Amino acid sequence: MTPDETPSADSLSAREMEWTAVENGIDYLDDAVRILAYPSAESDRRRELKYAVLHLHAATEVLLKYRLFRENWALVLQKPAAAQEITARHVEIGDFVSCSVDTAIGRLRRELQVAISKEERDQIAALGKSRNALQHYGLVQAEAAIEAMAAVVLEFLNRFLDDHLLPDLPPPERNRVGDALGRIQSGLGQIRFYVEKRLKDLHAQLEPHKERTVVCPVCRQWTLVAHPEGPARCLFCPMTMNPEQAAWLYSAEFVPYRSPPPTSDLFSQPLQPAIDSCSTCRSKTLVQGTVVSAGKGRSISFCFSCAAGRIPLP
Ligand SMILES: [Zn+2]
Ligand SMILES: [Zn+2]
Repeated sequence: MTPDETPSADSLSAREMEWTAVENGIDYLDDAVRILAYPSAESDRRRELKYAVLHLHAATEVLLKYRLFRENWALVLQKPAAAQEITARHVEIGDFVSCSVDTAIGRLRRELQVAISKEERDQIAALGKSRNALQHYGLVQAEAAIEAMAAVVLEFLNRFLDDHLLPDLPPPERNRVGDALGRIQSGLGQIRFYVEKRLKDLHAQLEPHKERTVVCPVCRQWTLVAHPEGPARCLFCPMTMNPEQAAWLYSAEFVPYRSPPPTSDLFSQPLQPAIDSCSTCRSKTLVQGTVVSAGKGRSISFCFSCAAGRIPLP
């Protein structure tokens, strides 16, 4: 099957799969960056942010899947093996399903050796879910979280365009998207500036709590403050989590899983998260390998219930 005969799938129509897909993707990006980088005073900000998230997500989907499509159109199908069964009739009525963004990322890494870090992958996934954040949290917090996520995703898409899509774009098309790419670059600089400014504004608030501040597993800023009498709260993004959640999320993101104690079992046991019971509060919220803001570069055992460092268990 040639690109012209490519089936439409899910939200991706056949036309979007042509070169114009790149143009559409860049259009979405341009829109998202304009909303995030240059807020207008009289607009309905919550509604605008929702569009920025939708457009950024759409751009990610179109651009990533387009690269897969160019390699082999079957790779954009949910089940590439079923490509043979897709007939012209299926194409006509759009009767098949395209893969998820996460699957597309997995295939790009495996089939095309595209470098996508865990953080980028996580932020792309988080972006997809962040519309909820807009409904449930205060606007200022939701805006901060979306900006931080968007900065990582934009950074990645920028690099992805440069390395994997633009080099093959014919010069006329390249010229057409040139202006938009320039706007995206400078808008991204502006978004980075907002993220840094927010961190600077939080500095005084965070300073007295450096002994119990860690990197937030959601927004990845040094702004998650554990509290001895309540939930851990991130001052940058809207996340509030009870000590158990905080210990689990933190260890899942940042601490290597460890081998279980040796047994005489025939089969090996799965690796386990590095969480233990705290000798003081008895809660299972002690994470070995935590780094707190006061001692960057040195990992300690930290109890998310006591909100304090502990001597490691023997
Ligand atoms: Zn956070
Ligand atoms: Zn404790």
